[in-house]
Amino acid sequence: MALTDRAYLKDLLSRHGFTFSKAMGQNFLINPSVCPRMAEFGGASEGVGVIEIGPGVGVLTQQLAERADKVVCIELDERLPPILAETLADYDNVEIILGDVMEVDLEKIIAERFAGMPVYVCANLPYYITTPILMRLLEAKLPIEAVTVMVQKEAAQRLCAEPGERECGAISAAVWYFSEPKPLFSVSAGSFMPAPNVDSAVIRLDIRKEPPVSPKNEKLMFEVVKGAFSQRRKTAANAISSYLKKDKSEVIKLLESCGLDPAVRAERLTLSDFAAIADAFEAV
Ligand code: SAM
Repeated sequence: MALTDRAYLKDLLSRHGFTFSKAMGQNFLINPSVCPRMAEFGGASEGVGVIEIGPGVGVLTQQLAERADKVVCIELDERLPPILAETLADYDNVEIILGDVMEVDLEKIIAERFAGMPVYVCANLPYYITTPILMRLLEAKLPIEAVTVMVQKEAAQRLCAEPGERECGAISAAVWYFSEPKPLFSVSAGSFMPAPNVDSAVIRLDIRKEPPVSPKNEKLMFEVVKGAFSQRRKTAANAISSYLKKDKSEVIKLLESCGLDPAVRAERLTLSDFAAIADAFEAV
């Protein structure tokens, strides 16, 4: 019986005495068309390894395991592995690691479980930690090809917005620096049990081999980005000067030396602008 069948899923959960945890962001997919599409778009195919974050009861996992050579899932909720043992009984290419994705050693998991294989990440993310999870995956510079994730629709817009576009934020700069993001498709709130308050969307981040800009000090560039977006209503110069505890007139001079309007706001700055500002800071 399909895990997307509402009555079957309810029965499965009640047999295991399972109740949804809001704190762990548990909204399980019950729309039968979503998981096959996510698995296809996510790169699950012959010869490939997939990491899934938060398998829940395994509805997406089944689709990934049908297509990829190996699937490793990281699940925080200790009540789920007994359910997964039942729902994934037909698959011998799935491993469940009980743990917090923010704490497990992803480098080690990739090296040990997927040696010699291209690796993809595919997940319906717990929405309460979407940004920290994506930052963890991107900043660690893991040897992965792409990250395909379901996130809240608004988050999807922000994540895919190129720096310099109105919807962008600090996270957009990191996403564009480390990857090429692409919106894939929308998913209505009714596709989940329980239904969340907002619609969702699936996006794919193709990991870049080389970043599009080369700041002398990458860490400093991201400090400048964080600073610029820390107070969106202020000018970038104001926000950067208070975040980095620098004199405002000094920051204005730096922006001018990069050919930028000193009254510019963070959302108008491109990645090249951020790299240039960071290099100017590095030089003084
Ligand atoms: N993949 C399933 C689906 O699509 O129906 C479940 C998705 S549900 C939105 C998020 C899943 O992430 C839940 O299974 C939840 O227990 C798990 N989770 C929450 N926080 C986590 C964390 N820090 N590390 C690993 N898994 C986590």
